[in-house]
Amino acid sequence: MADPKGFLKVTERELPKRRPVPVRIMDFKEVYEQGDPAQLRRQAGRCMDCGIPFCHQGCPLGNLIPEWNDLMYRGEGRAAVERLHATNNFPEFTGRLCPAPCESACVLGINQPAVTIKQVEVSIIDQAFGSGWVQPQPPGRLTGKTVAVVGSGPAGLAAAQQLTRAGHTVAVFERDDRIGGLLRYGIPDFKMEKKHLEQRLAQMTAEGTRFRAGMNIGVDITWDQLRERYDAVVVATGAMVPRDLPIPGRDLPGVHFAMEYLVQSNRRVAGDEVFDQISAEGKHVVVLGGGDTGADCIGTAHRQGALSVTNLAIGKQPGQARPEHQPWPMHPTVFEVQSAHEEGGHREYLVSTVEFVANDSGELRAIRVAETEYLDGRRVPKAGTEREIPADLVLLALGFTGPESQELDEQLELAVTDRGNLDRDAAYATASPGVFVAGDAGRGQSLIVWAIAEGRAAAAAVDRYLEGETSLPSPIPANARAFAV
Ligand SMILES: Cc1cc2nc3c(=O)[nH]c(=O)nc-3n(C[C@H](O)[C@H](O)[C@H](O)COP(=O)(O)OP(=O)(O)OC[C@H]3O[C@@H](n4cnc5c(N)ncnc54)[C@H](O)[C@@H]3O)c2cc1C
Ligand code: SF4
Repeated sequence: MADPKGFLKVTERELPKRRPVPVRIMDFKEVYEQGDPAQLRRQAGRCMDCGIPFCHQGCPLGNLIPEWNDLMYRGEGRAAVERLHATNNFPEFTGRLCPAPCESACVLGINQPAVTIKQVEVSIIDQAFGSGWVQPQPPGRLTGKTVAVVGSGPAGLAAAQQLTRAGHTVAVFERDDRIGGLLRYGIPDFKMEKKHLEQRLAQMTAEGTRFRAGMNIGVDITWDQLRERYDAVVVATGAMVPRDLPIPGRDLPGVHFAMEYLVQSNRRVAGDEVFDQISAEGKHVVVLGGGDTGADCIGTAHRQGALSVTNLAIGKQPGQARPEHQPWPMHPTVFEVQSAHEEGGHREYLVSTVEFVANDSGELRAIRVAETEYLDGRRVPKAGTEREIPADLVLLALGFTGPESQELDEQLELAVTDRGNLDRDAAYATASPGVFVAGDAGRGQSLIVWAIAEGRAAAAAVDRYLEGETSLPSPIPANARAFAV
């Protein structure tokens, strides 16, 4: 145990400061300032090394949190990163982007603010990369078996790294021009700068994973051709079919899916030329829908110089405290203030969008909204409450309905569940022998931590399929939940 009296001496949560809002919205760099090692040690020292560490179950990866808290408290960063990597291939992603359900399950959180687990995690890995402790781990021998991983998001990357290290020859196919999935073109740099992705890809390349960007499987080569060429295939294609809002005016110029907007902005930040870029500059922006995607649109719009940013949600505003039906150690639905929310704009709840309104020239000028009313459990616009909100740009961040599945169905006969996700059994295997599904493609739009956990577990299943046994860890059966995250 780090410090037996740590949790009695330090009762407050301390996190690195975020850069001042007026400064940080001038660029797309990460919002956090450099952490203070003394502060980090104090926080790691608050960990009680509980007999039953509920944080383990709270984390979908089963991260060994008390162990690395202890090691960081003692200044043993090198041992800490080994314990961290034992369960998590990419702590530099989760340490920046995870909503930290582990902290909701922290035992200290019952009557004190939880340990800053996620901050300790990111500090361990940043120190390790900075100190040169993260080195390639190529396999000792090759099995002669080949695996195609389709999709280069966190699920595909985790599966590829595990399988490469197990000695298989792995190629990752990605239809975008760059590797990374939503880490690359969904999540803006102010949440995670792409240098973190690049340094991990450099390690993977040195270990022997092959990357093939610009290959759209199902189009450039068919899925069944791919299956014939490789001994096994992992489908990690994400769940990016966006939920639409088919109301009058939907086809007006100025109404866009959030991902159309975010991809263009991320490309621009990466230095690409983007023709006819959708920009918020000088515009009244309305973001429909909350969640991570909505917050990323808000932060991006402020950085592009929006005149105003309004975020509308159809449902009720979550409370500030844990609701009674989500007691500890569950991950509760509470009112979230992400860094993007601190930067301006305002949020409204119980608002239903009725129509996108055009001016005389046929351009978007407003959206017509009404109060949301609950009728027989359905959310409908309340009659007589309609009003207009000025809007030159509307971004639809209403979630995702599932993966693109048509070609997979036609070429590999992969089935789809009644929730629209690719069907697989508890061991990630589909009905097509040798074809496995990991990440959002099988789970629906979820979290990076789940994608990594599924990629690791699917890799173990593939290894067992190819070799008859496996020594790769298999953290979770497909579609497992950890304390309702
Ligand atoms: C805007 C946004 C912000 C988010 N922010 C967070 C966050 O802060 N924290 C968090 O935990 N989660 C966040 N999420 C969710 C998280 O990004 C996803 O759950 C995670 O990336 C899923 O990983 P994945 O590997 O399953 O798929 P993805 O990351 O979606 O990657 C799938 C990849 O497959 C490729 N692909 C698809 N079809 C083919 C094909 N036929 N051939 C070749 N390649 C193909 C796609 O181009 C894509 O690159 C966010 C999601 C969005 C949309
Ligand atoms: S990956 Fe997420 S849930 Fe797991 S320890 Fe890190 S922050 Fe917590």
